Amino acid sequence: MISLARPLTIRNHDRDLAGLTYVYPVLSRRAGGVSIGINLNPNNACNWHCAYCQVPDLVRGKAPAIDLAQLEQELGGFLDDLVHGDWLQRHAPEGMRAIRDIAFSGNGEPTSAAVFPEALDLVVRLREQAGLGKEVPIRLITNGSLMAQARVQQGVHALGEAGGEVWFKVDAGTVAGMERINGVRMDPAAVAKHLALSASLCPTWVQTCMFRWDDAPPSGTELAAYLDVLTAAGVSKLQGVLLYGLARPSMQVEASHLKPLTAGELEAIAGRIREKGLTVRVSP
Ligand code: SF4
Repeated sequence: MISLARPLTIRNHDRDLAGLTYVYPVLSRRAGGVSIGINLNPNNACNWHCAYCQVPDLVRGKAPAIDLAQLEQELGGFLDDLVHGDWLQRHAPEGMRAIRDIAFSGNGEPTSAAVFPEALDLVVRLREQAGLGKEVPIRLITNGSLMAQARVQQGVHALGEAGGEVWFKVDAGTVAGMERINGVRMDPAAVAKHLALSASLCPTWVQTCMFRWDDAPPSGTELAAYLDVLTAAGVSKLQGVLLYGLARPSMQVEASHLKPLTAGELEAIAGRIREKGLTVRVSP
């Protein structure tokens, strides 16, 4: 998901290249290697509808039933090809022939999969079987909306134990702002609670996308409310904020409202966040 469901700079858009349902490679110059994406939403279904979402044919809903045996076969085979085969030589340019991470980042909210904790355990086991460790971190890119569910907490806790991290989406701080940007009606206090819960279970970064809507940058009120959500969650509990601009065009009907902020405007927002004591990494 999400994310920017997949915020990496260079990607292989043709998931079918690998011929797989749940696993796809992403080449990232910024990360200097390959990110292995796990897509638990091959049905393009998400419980949110973000205005900037890059998923084509996005529909409302949740992940379908996941065939864990197929996931195991796909990821196990791909890891084997990466570690013991010549996939990197064939597909990755010089200087990018390294596995950087394994990311639950699909075409919808990954924690909506009924077997999310089992899928997480499977990925941890296969990473180990491939002879890889915490130098290839497992990441969960999530909108965080299902964090109150026990099975999601179970998975996030296991992710923390495995040395992984959560990228938790927060784009706004008011009910109206969240509704406009994320297409859902949420209580900002509940978002802060879910964020704090995530951070208590696993190292958690906030992932934020900011842009112009009908030419207007985020208002001072909206920015203050956003910072209030992070403060309410507890800034000392968070790893920091990954602040993104609109690097790629939205695939949603709202795309016509959106325009990128300038690098300077994004930096100014980053400065406001840093004043709260948070680390900020900006990706214009
Ligand atoms: S709608 Fe939002 S949360 Fe869902 S996949 Fe798209 S960007 Fe991620």
